[in-house]
Amino acid sequence: MTSPYSKTYPIVPPPKCPLCGHFIPNDERPGEYPGALSRRDRTVEICSKCGEREAWEDFSRAVAEGRFSDEEDHLDLLGNPIEDREEF
Ligand SMILES: [Zn+2]
Repeated sequence: MTSPYSKTYPIVPPPKCPLCGHFIPNDERPGEYPGALSRRDRTVEICSKCGEREAWEDFSRAVAEGRFSDEEDHLDLLGNPIEDREEF
């Protein structure tokens, strides 16, 4: 009797990052789980390292442009002012 699993399927190679050419999510575990969604066009899947690099680039730019002020520290996750932080 033939097992239904004996049929051969084309082997799909693990996806590679279009930015650096390494495997997605990384070279240690190629194709085991999804990589990162590029923050640049939000459609391209990239490797974990490139995703992390893009996030740090955005964060560094925001800090350099002064977008993290004391005032923003007093906003909740929805952007509403937190009146008295001592309550927390
Ligand atoms: Zn990459």
